[in-house]
Amino acid sequence: LSDSSEADSKKKKVVVLGTGWAGINFLKTLKNPSYDVQVISPRNYFVFTPLLPSVTCGTLEPRSIVEPVRNIVRKKNVNIHYWEAECFKIDAENKKVYCRSNIAGNLNEKEEIDVDYDYLVIAIGAPANTFNIPGVAENCHFLKEMEDAQKIRRTVIDCFERASLPNLSDDERKRILHFVVVGGGPTGVEFSAGLHDYVKEDLVRLYPKVKEAVKITLLEATDHILNMFDKRITAFAEEKFQRDGIDVKTGAMVVKVSDKEILVKNGGGTSTMPYGMVVWATGIGTRPIITEFMKQIGQGNRRALLTDEWLRVEGCDGIYALGDCATINQRRVMEDILAIFRKADKDKSGTLTVKEFQEVIDDIRERYPQVALYLKNKHMRTLVDLLKDSKGDAVKGSVEVNLEEFKSALSQVDSQMKNLPPTAQVAAQQGTYLADCFNRMEKCERNPEGPLRFRCEGRHRFHPFRYKHLGQFAPLGGEQTAAQLPGDWVSIGHSTQWLWYSVYASNDVEVGTALKMSNQPPEKINILVCPEVKT
Ligand code: FAD
Ligand code: NAD
Repeated sequence: LSDSSEADSKKKKVVVLGTGWAGINFLKTLKNPSYDVQVISPRNYFVFTPLLPSVTCGTLEPRSIVEPVRNIVRKKNVNIHYWEAECFKIDAENKKVYCRSNIAGNLNEKEEIDVDYDYLVIAIGAPANTFNIPGVAENCHFLKEMEDAQKIRRTVIDCFERASLPNLSDDERKRILHFVVVGGGPTGVEFSAGLHDYVKEDLVRLYPKVKEAVKITLLEATDHILNMFDKRITAFAEEKFQRDGIDVKTGAMVVKVSDKEILVKNGGGTSTMPYGMVVWATGIGTRPIITEFMKQIGQGNRRALLTDEWLRVEGCDGIYALGDCATINQRRVMEDILAIFRKADKDKSGTLTVKEFQEVIDDIRERYPQVALYLKNKHMRTLVDLLKDSKGDAVKGSVEVNLEEFKSALSQVDSQMKNLPPTAQVAAQQGTYLADCFNRMEKCERNPEGPLRFRCEGRHRFHPFRYKHLGQFAPLGGEQTAAQLPGDWVSIGHSTQWLWYSVYASNDVEVGTALKMSNQPPEKINILVCPEVKT
């Protein structure tokens, strides 16, 4: 062995599965050259998913929102190899992953690769969820991958061409030009808005004879669209869609899709709805390899792999999971929070003074900002407000908080907090966090000093992962976007659209192209936001 290959053979082997938000941010942040990294993913490019709906309507070209993986890895001083392949089995006991090559999208069963690892980073995302509803997989379009967006774009045009053929009945023409979107989450809403603009601004000019037959319907099973957003945004979106003529049907649960009709359960009954194209956007499910792996390691039948707050897969050695395929075990978070309370309760009376309790809250805010984010509980709110007013010393410990009250407050926080949302923001921050840990791994092993453990003796080498919520955007069409920023700040309107562009244009990907698409760039970008709805 030459000196360099001997040195290479001593390097710890890191295998990264996936080149989405989590995997790519891990690779971009990793700078410690003491690893030998193998990246395995069927996609040799990164997709900037927030702009994927724009590809369905031709506002953006696919190349504007992708970044080749090889471009990213060639710039690194870390030894990184990329294989265009798909992992089909993880063997945690023997620290091996089994993969099949995927050149030109053809999974070739003969070309199997098995790769050893010391550390495995699972970042393979999640597929669209069909809930096994009959006919969905066969008849619907999805909007998850670049291929999906390109297929939708072709199908929309095909529908207009087909509807323009002679000898069609009016009913048949209307059916063909009926575009149905299932799921009123951000994907379904954004796509409906984009499709509406595309039809109104471009297609009706190209196909004037059929314009009266076009209809867009958005079906949502619950009472409102954009449920995870502030009520003001939901109301604005519903009103805007009504003005635009997008037919929003809430309380409408799709239960079956055949080749030309959708069966919808609405209230007590069911009805059928003829369609020309359906886009299914009802959230995400689980990849079969993750389901298999969870069985193997005794995690049962869950949607996502359970990790601790250091993103380590529970019950495994050297395996990390991040992004949409993973979820942090909130039960343990709650246990830790209770442990913070118990630690502050020095006399073991089960009761804390306000001052002590304030320290507990500060500690929780520091360790778990996402808990603070979801602190909607009245009891906690009152206490926190009280503490803010008193600044901790005016009350002089006259108010006491007992453990039972605190537990009941937590249980409500727990149910509202649920898990971190499966978003690009979470995935990207997790990728960056984990690579930072890897960058410091050796140093930390030499000096194993870190934050004290709550549950047992000793110290952690790294801080747990802390999510920082930077806000969420929902483009609503007509150059209008709604933004919900931390602290319940809401902004809706044209200026928010430019805020949205500027946030995305500031990313590494060449999404600056998004800025070029408008004919009239604004003289200045107004990023003023306030807790009032601005239109
Ligand atoms: P992904 O980005 O899905 O990446 C998974 C990677 O794993 C891919 O490279 C895939 O090819 C690879 N892979 C799959 N199977 C295997 C396998 N067996 N072996 C190896 N590799 C595999 N979030 C936001 O925060 N803001 C937004 O505005 C936003 N807009 C969105 C718009 C759309 C249309 C969609 C669909 C999603 C949007 N999201 C948004 C959500 C966001 O895209 C996801 O949360 C994010 O992509 C999750 O990142 P990830 O790395 O976990 O998975
Ligand atoms: P989602 O889970 O957010 O919403 C899916 C919607 O479909 C829900 O409202 C649900 O009630 C509805 N639904 C489920 N089954 C149905 C059925 N059979 N019939 C009718 N309606 C049904 O899914 P999404 O919009 O695909 O988003 C997935 C994730 O990606 C979320 O975490 C989201 O925050 C994130 N995302 C964010 C943005 C953004 O920030 N702009 C954009 C897209 C996606």
